[in-house]
Amino acid sequence: MADALFDLPPEYVALRDSARAVAAEVAPLADRVATVDSFVPEIRAALAGSGLVSVVVPASFGGRFEKVDSLAVTVVREALAGATAHADSMFAMQGIGSFAISRAASPTLQERWLPVVGRLDAVPALGLTEPDIGSDLKALSTVVEADGENLVVTGTKSFITNAGEADFYCVLGREGDGYSLVLVEADRAGVGISHPYGVIDHHVLGDVTFDGVKVPSANRIGAPGEGFAHVLATLATFRASVAGASIGLAEAALREAMAHAAGREMFGTTLSRIGGVPEALAMCWTEIEMARSLAYRAAAAAARDPEANLHLSSMAKVGATEVAGRVVDRAVQVMGRFGLVRGSTIERLYREARPMRIYEGSTEVILDSLARQLMKRGLR
Ligand SMILES: Cc1cc2nc3c(=O)[nH]c(=O)nc-3n(C[C@H](O)[C@H](O)[C@H](O)COP(=O)(O)OP(=O)(O)OC[C@H]3O[C@@H](n4cnc5c(N)ncnc54)[C@H](O)[C@@H]3O)c2cc1C
Repeated sequence: MADALFDLPPEYVALRDSARAVAAEVAPLADRVATVDSFVPEIRAALAGSGLVSVVVPASFGGRFEKVDSLAVTVVREALAGATAHADSMFAMQGIGSFAISRAASPTLQERWLPVVGRLDAVPALGLTEPDIGSDLKALSTVVEADGENLVVTGTKSFITNAGEADFYCVLGREGDGYSLVLVEADRAGVGISHPYGVIDHHVLGDVTFDGVKVPSANRIGAPGEGFAHVLATLATFRASVAGASIGLAEAALREAMAHAAGREMFGTTLSRIGGVPEALAMCWTEIEMARSLAYRAAAAAARDPEANLHLSSMAKVGATEVAGRVVDRAVQVMGRFGLVRGSTIERLYREARPMRIYEGSTEVILDSLARQLMKRGLR
């Protein structure tokens, strides 16, 4: 049946159903997410108890799939993000912050961290961004220096998701002429956490200072100079999942707009039949379905070969995050003044949609890179 081409295989449907059950459990807790520096314990407990996090580590370390599976991550994020970005971020970062370990760390580091990460008993973070460096990552200034049997890490990482909650940070720094990724445990002397910014979606993040922090050389992930390759592999595996989260969020916003438009009577009919409202609702639906088709295709391709399909994941991320931005904006417009009420679900979704177009590769940076590839290799 040609239809089967576009349906999720049964194991992913089962996973999505489990994720929807967790989403329903944590949705009433979404309003508790009001600080940038800590997890909501009940959301962490629900996620940990569900076993869902096991999809972000390989089966050999307690994972659900043989290797980290982009489509599995995408369908889970789609379900969670509709309930609260807090649960989505908590889930996704368990993979994003630990993927380099799955890919390239020593067996000792893998044994130490991956099983506990897969149970949400330990929390990882990925430190790339610096106070003055974002998209232009190769200009970073954090330094990694060899010192006998140790490595010394010096620098500051900024806007780091899970800062303060994390048990360890995978930190990208310059080592000689290249860049290395080093695992720094949060309790090492010289690690400092601050929270200089509160962001609009109450994302748990902060700045992390590494003041000459000493770690064993075995904490380097992979060989010296391989750091960027591990970061790119992480992006290639997880970028499509941002599309999944965006679709889940957009669908939640559309539901809000539909409920409002169906329930509000004016001019002798319901709002859902007035002026541009039917078109706005239908366009939201259409764009969500388009974004979902590409997201699943890109995620399935990334599950087979992440690096070879990064262009698809990138398109899916840009497409779906921009759709989410348009959908929440239209939803607010359909709801009129009720779309602007502080503390309402639509207000939260409006705030939570905005960062998605900036993190894990901003729309402009991704489009620039896609355009280069397009002109170099042509359409195929
Ligand atoms: C909620 C949230 C969580 C985050 N979590 C983490 C984390 O866990 N770890 C981490 O390391 N970082 C994290 N970040 C940081 C994130 O990765 C950066 O915000 C992102 O890389 C963009 O960098 P920037 O914000 O410094 O923007 P800039 O790089 O200063 O860009 C500013 C603007 O210029 C545009 N621009 C930049 N370069 C180009 C170009 N070459 N071509 C066209 N346009 C361009 C951008 O699209 C953007 O619109 C997080 C950010 C947010 C908002």
